[in-house]
Amino acid sequence: MKLPIFLDNHSTTPMDPRVLEAMLPYFTEKFGNAASRNHAFGWAAEEAVEQARKQIARLIKADSKEIVFTSGATESDNLALKGALEMYKEKGTHIITSTAEHRAVLDTAKSLEAKGLATVTYLSVDKYGMVSPQDVQNAITDKTILISVMLANNEIGTINPIQEIGKIAKARGVLFHCDATQGIGKIPVDVQAMGIDLMSFSAHKIYGPKGVGALYVRKRNPRVRIAAQMDGGGHE
Ligand SMILES: *Cc1c(COP(=O)(O)O)cnc(C)c1O
Repeated sequence: MKLPIFLDNHSTTPMDPRVLEAMLPYFTEKFGNAASRNHAFGWAAEEAVEQARKQIARLIKADSKEIVFTSGATESDNLALKGALEMYKEKGTHIITSTAEHRAVLDTAKSLEAKGLATVTYLSVDKYGMVSPQDVQNAITDKTILISVMLANNEIGTINPIQEIGKIAKARGVLFHCDATQGIGKIPVDVQAMGIDLMSFSAHKIYGPKGVGALYVRKRNPRVRIAAQMDGGGHE
């Protein structure tokens, strides 16, 4: 037995050697900038990024154009909440989330509240850590633009009734963001069936590298728009 034993896979996981092997060439011989559209070094890097984008899209039943790479789920959560609020603030500034969300969602919501940019309803959860779809339904007002509920809880593993919440959001024309960081790769995730418009996830929780995450942004039915939170270049 090799000590100490790591018992904190919800905080991070080691990288799978197969992932490391796939990535290694891109640190050394294939080092181009994927945004360099005018030469072969850039094209090789872009091809690899697009291949990764396709694989990720397939995993969640999305189109590859709907995947935005980020530095991790923290950035994805920030981008989803702040980016959607900035884009839809004319329609309303009310956000619904739960008290059991990850800090990346809770602190973002608190920050938006503190700046006077949003009003936030924090739904409490039951003794299992579960969000009630009925509570979500009751909290919606005509100023609600976004619901943010996580798929699987990072402390206690509770899986929320995402599909039901997705249906409610859709019926009321409210965007639905889901932090799926702890669900992806462990349980089936289908953004169509679950009615998800924005979804955050992260590589280092599923045997991928640290410093890489993604945000799914629905492109059709409805077409969701978010405002970039970083200026410069327009690339990821
Ligand atoms: C780990 C985690 C995050 C943050 O992910 P990073 O990629 O480390 O920024 C966000 N949400 C949940 C549910 C997580 O488990």
